[in-house]
Amino acid sequence: MPPTVLLHVCCGPCASHAVEELQRLGYAVTLCFSNANLSPADEYERRLEAARQLAAHTQASLIVDPPDHGAWLAAVRGLEDEPEGGARCSRCFRYSLVRVQALAAEQGFDKFATSLTISPHKRSETIFAVGRELDPARFLAVDFKKRDGFRRSTQLAKECGLYRQDYCGCEFSRKKLS
Ligand code: SF4
Repeated sequence: MPPTVLLHVCCGPCASHAVEELQRLGYAVTLCFSNANLSPADEYERRLEAARQLAAHTQASLIVDPPDHGAWLAAVRGLEDEPEGGARCSRCFRYSLVRVQALAAEQGFDKFATSLTISPHKRSETIFAVGRELDPARFLAVDFKKRDGFRRSTQLAKECGLYRQDYCGCEFSRKKLS
C-alpha cells in the first residue's frame, strides 16, 4: 500500500500540479478543501467547485471542511492592513493547517501537505515552519514551486477548465485590486 497524504487544496489550479507531484513521489492523495479565509461566499463556492472538478479529474477523494469565516476573521484581527506575505498571511496559513493536521491525524493519514507552497507570492519556508511546528512527523514539506510547478499548474488548470481567481482569497487581498 502506498503511503497516504491529505493535501490541503488552497484552490484547484494550485493543487493540480501538487497532486501530480505527490503521485510522482508515490503517495495516495486525498484532497482537503479547508479555506475559511475565502470571501465573499460566492467566491468560496467557485473555488470549491474547481476543487471538485480536480478531484473528479484525478480520481481523488475530496474532504470539505465546513468554513467559519467569522472565526477566521477573529484569528487575523488586528492584522487587516498587513501587506500580502506579512503577519496576517502567516496567521492564515496556520488557521488552515491546524485544521488539516487535525483531520489528517483523526483519519489516520500518514502525511499532510499544502498546495500553498506553489504560489510565487508565498514564502515556502514560512509555510514549512508552521507545518513542522504543528506536527513534525506528519507534515510533508514539499515546495511545489520547484520543477517549474507554477507554470505547470497554469497549464493543467487550463486543460481541466478550472476556474482561476485573480486575488489570493480574503477580503483584504481583494481590496488591493480595487
Ligand atoms: S492574502 Fe491570502 S494568505 Fe494572506 S491572509 Fe488573505 S487569504 Fe490568507
